Amino acid sequence: MRFMGWDLEAVLSSADPGLFGQLLAAAEKNRLAFRGDEVYVRGLIEYSNQCRRDCLYCGLRVSNRSLERYHLQAEEIIELGLAIYRAGITSIALQAGENSSDREVERIAGVVSELREKSMQERPPGLGVTLSLGEMTYRQYKRLYDAGAHRYLLRIESSDVQVFKRIHPPRQVYERRLECLHYLKDIGYQVGTGVMIGLPGQSYASLAADLNFFVEQDIDMLGMGPYIPHHDTPLAKARDYIIQDAFGTSIKMMALARLMMPDINMVVSTALQNINPEGLRLGVKAGGNVVMPVFTPQEHQAEYALYPNKETKSLESIRLEVESAGYRLCLSKWGDSPHYFNRQLAAGKKEGLA
Ligand code: SAH
Repeated sequence: MRFMGWDLEAVLSSADPGLFGQLLAAAEKNRLAFRGDEVYVRGLIEYSNQCRRDCLYCGLRVSNRSLERYHLQAEEIIELGLAIYRAGITSIALQAGENSSDREVERIAGVVSELREKSMQERPPGLGVTLSLGEMTYRQYKRLYDAGAHRYLLRIESSDVQVFKRIHPPRQVYERRLECLHYLKDIGYQVGTGVMIGLPGQSYASLAADLNFFVEQDIDMLGMGPYIPHHDTPLAKARDYIIQDAFGTSIKMMALARLMMPDINMVVSTALQNINPEGLRLGVKAGGNVVMPVFTPQEHQAEYALYPNKETKSLESIRLEVESAGYRLCLSKWGDSPHYFNRQLAAGKKEGLA
């Protein structure tokens, strides 16, 4: 698979530092030309680590009994969200393990609508709300959209069905995940997806196919990061790694994604920042234009253990690193994905022609 002269698989598997430099420079040039130097901020609230899924890679999996579980009250989430807004950050992301009972969805819909109303009363445009709560029914996604959430992140984890099967229990199926992405788009969300990089059994060809998957799915937002083994999960025992340098490969994936999809938003994932001190700087240079500083209450941060030794950086240290890379942190704008609006425009034109 090729894109503008780049052979995706060859670039991803190459250990040539010259090629790496060329790719990074091309991505940076593209990003500055089309998107400028702004990096948008989403204050992240991980409000619950209770999860009914059993993903073989994730520390929150239901079978992991050695994890202390927590679940923030609605009032606590609302207070945190408003505190983030008062600190000048105009968008938040709510993330949690999966618990999509109707009762829980109703509770979160209440949180979202209250956050939207109260923040709006304080000053327009009010808080932008991104959700990352896993798989739900169409009706549940719609309920949360109607409550005021307008972006949703649901990683496909790997678009390679064999890899997907390898890292999930049999009852969690690829087709269902894909269907959820289609629901989200149909409802009108800005839709984000992504993959983990360096999974057991995952090849460079799988990653090249992931990039094509993102283009085909016409996604608005992208979040990719290295897979980090968690000792309390079954996947930690795997030995069949093909990709050796998950960090460098992640940076290359970001750079290629930026070149292939200039108008999407792309996050510099926490996992990327966690496995290498250069993660934030290189992630931004490779085209990342969103950061998600963690505002989960301090006492629960360690319990939101998707992977081990998850460290969080303060907004100030993120700001310094972004600036030292030559970019600007932008708190005041929602910073929505232009791809979303371009996509609406294109759909409107199509309808007009029909
Ligand atoms: N339950 C929600 C959100 C929580 S998990 C959902 O399913 O979307 C958020 C993301 O963390 C996952 O999509 C996965 O890509 C990533 N993640 C989980 N375990 C990880 C690990 N061991 N290493 C790196 N990333 C991981």
